[in-house]
Amino acid sequence: MAKYWNDETVYSQPSVAELKRRAKESLSAAKKRGRKYEPVVAKTKRGDICTSWWGKAWCSNLERYADYASRLDRGKGYVRSGAVVDLQIHDGHVSAKVQGRRKTPYNVEIRIGRLSEDTVQNIISRCSARIDSMEKLVSGEFPEELKDIFTEEGGLFPNPRQISFGCSCPDWAVMCKHVAAVMYAIGIRFDENPFYFFNLRGIDVDRFISVALENKVEQMLQNADCKSDRIIAEDLGELFGVGLF
Ligand SMILES: [Zn+2]
Repeated sequence: MAKYWNDETVYSQPSVAELKRRAKESLSAAKKRGRKYEPVVAKTKRGDICTSWWGKAWCSNLERYADYASRLDRGKGYVRSGAVVDLQIHDGHVSAKVQGRRKTPYNVEIRIGRLSEDTVQNIISRCSARIDSMEKLVSGEFPEELKDIFTEEGGLFPNPRQISFGCSCPDWAVMCKHVAAVMYAIGIRFDENPFYFFNLRGIDVDRFISVALENKVEQMLQNADCKSDRIIAEDLGELFGVGLF
């Protein structure tokens, strides 16, 4: 006879196999309804869930906040089971659907406070001063020298005071496992394209690239006195990732 305090149907955790199966069903149900879900797929099976330095830095940033520590591990398992069936990054917020034991995925919403205009200016000018190749940047390769711009106080990564979140599940915890899963899933999306960081913090990527480019050209012209035209042209070629001769 089932005991009320041990009611498996209500309180037990779904197994990995069950999560995978339900996630698959939700994806095909969404497809039938003409909805385009963008599931998050973890590339690693164990250890770090992200592969780029910026993705790993995002995860360490989450993990250093003790308030969240207890739920984060479970969230990591959820991402690896393919439970984050949809994730959309917008200016200042992330909307996601996370599969749980229930048939319909839960809706998770994460809001991240906006950066002030001064902070945005500061980030853009500091990034552009350290970027050697625009081609690399545009192709999504961020130089690791930019790391402190992401991680320091007032940088691109939010601290807990700047994050608020909600989930449609009945969990009473401050951060439920679905929200934790989405936090890691954001890191995986950032792995694929670091410019999502900029989108999320409300920084216009085109503006960022054009300001970074202007600063770089200006820097070169300032140094032009001691260089021949050919060397400047070579520098510009390298900057744009093209040969000018
Ligand atoms: Zn939840």
